[in-house]
Formats: sequence, C-alpha cells, structure tokens
Amino acid sequence: MVEVPAAETAEPTAADWAAAVAAVHGLPAGGTVLLVCHVNPDGDALGSMLGMALGLRRLGITQLQATFPGATAGSGDDGYAGPPEVPEPFRWLPGLDLLVPAADAYPAPDLFLCFDAASASRLGGLADRLGTAGAAVVLDHHASNTRFGGIHLVDPGAAATSVVAEGLLNRLEVPLDAEIAQCLYVALATDTGSFRFDMTTPAVHEMAARLIATGISPGVISRRIFDTRPFGAVRLYGDVLQRAKLEPEAAGGVGLVWTYATLDDLARHGQKPYVLEALIDSVRCAAEADVSCVVKQAGPGEWAVSMRSKGAVDVSRVAVALGGGGHRLAAGFTGRGSVDDVIGSIRAELRGA
Ligand code: 5GP
Ligand code: MN
Repeated sequence: MVEVPAAETAEPTAADWAAAVAAVHGLPAGGTVLLVCHVNPDGDALGSMLGMALGLRRLGITQLQATFPGATAGSGDDGYAGPPEVPEPFRWLPGLDLLVPAADAYPAPDLFLCFDAASASRLGGLADRLGTAGAAVVLDHHASNTRFGGIHLVDPGAAATSVVAEGLLNRLEVPLDAEIAQCLYVALATDTGSFRFDMTTPAVHEMAARLIATGISPGVISRRIFDTRPFGAVRLYGDVLQRAKLEPEAAGGVGLVWTYATLDDLARHGQKPYVLEALIDSVRCAAEADVSCVVKQAGPGEWAVSMRSKGAVDVSRVAVALGGGGHRLAAGFTGRGSVDDVIGSIRAELRGA
C-alpha cells in the first residue's frame, strides 16, 4: 500500500476556514488587501483571484489590488488598459480593473491572499508580502503545495483553486453574481480541461451549475478561452508539431512524446508566449506515449516545461525532482541549458519513475 502523507490529502479544516474568514472580517476600516496569483497566470490563477477580488469588493472593501509577478502597466493603445502580461484570451474578464503592476502593489497589505501557487517561488518578488502582510491566506489545490504562508486553504482534492475560492466566498456570505461566476467558471473550465479530466466530479458539475445559473454563457466563454487564437499561432503549431519526437522505450516502456518551441519560433510567426499554453494538448494525444512534454523557451538557456501523463506515471514527482511542481497527471518546472539537457533530465527522472 502506498502511504500518502496527510498533508498531501488533507482538505482545509473548519479551523482553517474560520481563520480565513476572521482575517477578512478583522480588516481595519480602510484596510488594504493584496491578491496575487502565480507567475505566467493561467485561467485558474486569474479567474480564482479576480473572482475573489470582486467578492471582496461586494463586501465593501475598497482598498483592493490584484497582481502577479511580472505584471507591468498597460499602454491602453489597443483599447486594453491592463498589464500586457495578461494572455489575450483572458482580457475580457470582469475585475481586470483591479490589476496593478507588480511594482505598485501594497508593500505591507493588511491582508494578502494568493492563488494557485504551489510554492512561494511561484509568487516571484511578491513572496516578500508573506512576511510583511498582517495576514497571509493561501488558496490552492496542488498536492505539491509546500504549506508556505500563515493560513492554508489548500485542497488537493479540488479540481481548481476556484473551488476553494468559491468555498471562501460562500463562507463570507458573498452571493454569486454573473461577474464573479464568469471568473470562477473560466478557472474551473481551464483546470478540468473543459470538464474532461478525472477530477470532474459531481461536485464540479454542481459548482458549474451554480455558476451557469447566474446567467453566464458557457459557449461564449469556451470559444474565447479555448477556441480562439491568431492565425500565426495556427502556423506556429504546424512547425512545432512537425518536430515532435516519439520515444516508445522511455519511461520504463510506457513511452514519451515531446517537442519544443524557441523564442525564434515565436518571433518568426509574430506570436506571444501564451499561445503555446495549449500546445501540450496537441502533443499529449499521441496514443503511443503515456508521458508528453513541451519545452518552451522563456529566455536564453531557460525553458518553461509542461508535462502530462495518461496515468502510468506521476509527472508531479518528476517535476518536483527537477525543481517544479503540479499534479499527478499535469506538472511543470523551469529547465536550464539546451533542449537536449532538459529532455535528458526528464528522461533520467522517468527512468526512475
Ligand atoms: P502547465 O503545464 O499547464 O503550465 O502546468 C501544469 C501544472 O504544473 C499546473 O498545475 C502548474 O501550476 C504546474 N507547474 C507548471 N510549471 C511549474 C513550475 O515551474 N513550478 C511549479 N511549482 N509548478 C509548475
Ligand atoms: Mn490550478
């Protein structure tokens, strides 16, 4: 029998929820609240953070900021005033007006909440608020969560961080409205792969039902976040998929399929890094491999690595061993050196898997 440490399976206790509620209710008049999500935010990070921010605004909290590592000031040139680091598919989310550049975030907020970050390093320089804030609440659902911060709302059984966020909003007696629901729905749909993954439990569909009942349109939202990308990205996918490699002997014989994309590839097609987020979905469908991997260049000798498993391999174990984190079937880390170095390190970890 495999023994799982209690910390990896435990949901938040009644005391954890009570501490988080008390931290909100205990804000002084005019108290400042800073909400932060992980670097290179995805739909769950942004959606759970903005949904919670809107909920706190409904409670009458006015000194509210939301941000993430690397967020800068928008130019407003293209009619979008927020940080250019917000991926285009999410630039319509309600609550974006609460986003501030990371450099302008309250240095010592009365309350700090962070979203979808498995470790403090995912918060970049904003992790220093864990020390300066009056209270720090961590909302997350990664089994690999390192239990940083003061108040832990970490539920490894939750399909998305937005499940935890809804739990806190509910306990704060904030009713769901369409704006909050749009944010939480984006988060839930993102992390369940549009309600396809194994953690799509009855509770997930019940939450989706509560969100849709506010009047939001799942069709419109899905088209915006999953089915829309620039034509240049379609061509870029062609190049990158063309060079995919299949290694049937890897991972103890269950197989590895992988590819990579460089900054040159992006530049050649005039594309931004976010368009590569969905690339793993085109790679992981290769039937001959259990494990799939996409290595995306982030800078010179630096690569954002996405890994997926169909079930035979725990890729979060591989990611953690290589300095990252995630879930059993979806994980990632930052790789260094050449593509061959990065794939070589994964191959070696998979051999021991
Ligand atoms: P994705 O491949 O979609 O970027 O990420 C898959 C999962 O791995 C997500 O749960 C994400 O939070 C986690 N993940 C991806 N990259 C990293 C990383 O560099 N460090 C950590 N700790 N987790 C990561
Ligand atoms: Mn998540």
